Amino acid sequence: MNLGMISKYVKAKWSKGLTEKKVDVTTKDIRLLSCFGNGQDIPVCGGLRPSERKMGKFFCGECGCGDKMSTWLNGTDEEYTKLDHPYLSCPRKMPGFSDFEPATDDDNVGMERKRTIIEMLGKEVIENKDLIKPEKKPEPKSTPEMPKEEVKGCRSCAEKAKVRNELIEKLREEKGLEPDFKNARYMTEFNKLWESDPRVIAAEEERKKEPCPKCKRNEIFNKIKTRLVAEGQLEGEELIKKAHELTSKQIYEDAQREAE
Ligand code: SF4
Repeated sequence: MNLGMISKYVKAKWSKGLTEKKVDVTTKDIRLLSCFGNGQDIPVCGGLRPSERKMGKFFCGECGCGDKMSTWLNGTDEEYTKLDHPYLSCPRKMPGFSDFEPATDDDNVGMERKRTIIEMLGKEVIENKDLIKPEKKPEPKSTPEMPKEEVKGCRSCAEKAKVRNELIEKLREEKGLEPDFKNARYMTEFNKLWESDPRVIAAEEERKKEPCPKCKRNEIFNKIKTRLVAEGQLEGEELIKKAHELTSKQIYEDAQREAE
């Protein structure tokens, strides 16, 4: 799974929160206009794609988050669609999205469409940042921390879990990547950040000195995963599943050996 993609996705997920809060209904209408047009003078966005998995559903074909239930842009009032996330980015930085940027003078169809939408919304709406460009609300910390009781393992595990969440946020915010650890691009982007993060390097050093069971398991899992990737027989979920399976087997065998 591509780690870069995880970032964007997780940021939206965290903005959704545990109570599944939805973005302001007016902002959602603006997003719908940005993605789907108005059926008259504003056509659908060039990035919109029909779902191949479910008739009548649409997803954004430009953000890289794919065609799945959690990324479909339309749904019933009861459903929680992608457009309901309080924080949400758009590759074209259209009105209603958290990374909205005003139109430029560029002479292309997409920009012309953006200019028309901005004009249609009017000055009052465009100047209302809460509606037009909902930012992530300031929280106690800009990065969600894993609740203490959920952190299992040693300090190094906890630190790495924290960094992981931060990097996921970073990729979502800076590169507009939804978290998807099965996606090669996401993985490459995430690994680049992960491997150069001094906190990860320090946590690794600490882990080597005194590995907890979780650290040991992760180490075995990563070795097996690397081997399976190199063998090139499996990929995606199958590869991960196999890696978990072999990890459990090895831990069991190691424990048996130790007991003898
Ligand atoms: S590029 Fe933006 S406006 Fe277009 S479909 Fe994707 S999210 Fe919607």
